[in-house]
Amino acid sequence: EAAMGEAELNELLARRNSFADLPLVNYTTQYGMGCFEGLKAFPQKDGSLKLFRPDRNARRFRSSMEGLKMPSYPEETFVKAVRETVRRNRDIGFAPDYDPAWEAGDFAEGHAVYVRPFSYSEPAIGLGLSVSPWVVIITTPVGAYFRPGNSKAVTTDKVRAFPGGTGWIKCDANYVVPILAKKEAEAQGYMEAIFLDAEHKEYVEEGSSCNIFFVLKNGTLVTPDLSDTILPGITRASVIQLAKDLGVNVEERRISIHEVMDSAVEAFVTGTAAGISYFESITHKGQTKVFNGGKIGDTTRELQVDLKGIQYGSREDRHGWMVQV
Ligand code: PMP
Repeated sequence: EAAMGEAELNELLARRNSFADLPLVNYTTQYGMGCFEGLKAFPQKDGSLKLFRPDRNARRFRSSMEGLKMPSYPEETFVKAVRETVRRNRDIGFAPDYDPAWEAGDFAEGHAVYVRPFSYSEPAIGLGLSVSPWVVIITTPVGAYFRPGNSKAVTTDKVRAFPGGTGWIKCDANYVVPILAKKEAEAQGYMEAIFLDAEHKEYVEEGSSCNIFFVLKNGTLVTPDLSDTILPGITRASVIQLAKDLGVNVEERRISIHEVMDSAVEAFVTGTAAGISYFESITHKGQTKVFNGGKIGDTTRELQVDLKGIQYGSREDRHGWMVQV
């Protein structure tokens, strides 16, 4: 329930296997009228788990619910419920151990607990707004998001989000086109599809579920500025901060696919699932641009090591991002 107290929350958590009574026909299952979040808890060397910036997910979840005209949801309740769910699932063995692989030079995403909070509508059949949604939280252990060995990307003609639409909301319905585009890209031998803007089919927007960054020849890091067609990624905001810490010049602005093909020397995507994943190449209309001879670039790697170091606890959490479960 939105806005539930601790007692009700505990009661609901205790009944975690009894969700079979959730309605089958409702605004979420029929129309994609729902929103969700994705965040991770990272196993630490001392055996504990730490969540990465859950307050940011709480804020975005509230903004998504408000965007879909659902009742608003207290951010502290969200964080409390996420921590409690992760803790209880850890206690029944549903969490991976500390994964030192990345420290030994394995830069694929390491093991973590993925947390998926989502809204779920009350029973309904016609077009309408969900006024008393459930919020369900599930967790699952995860490893790498992208399969190692392929980091080729391709632009897609499909449109993920359009001005005036719901692209800025983490809304269920937004993921239909990205799934189709990603699967189409994979069938052609690529790892990921890159979306361009709906109007000009020229400005780079996002991957299928991640934000995108480019390092230009002059060392500047560029990422598309936020608009109603871009999801405000938490990893995106964090990477911008880390880059500034490293003394890298960061620009949030429109960047055309032509500028990417002409001037980019590194390209990577960011997201909770993807972490920081580099692209060895981008293909656009049959032309392929290879970045840094197909190898991960220095700036990308430096950011990756810094972010992972903070998440897995080998680097100081200098911005206070990690929250003990
Ligand atoms: N864009 C889209 C469309 C996404 O689904 C995600 C994943 N939530 C992201 C970007 C990255 O956001 P975050 O860094 O908060 O995971």
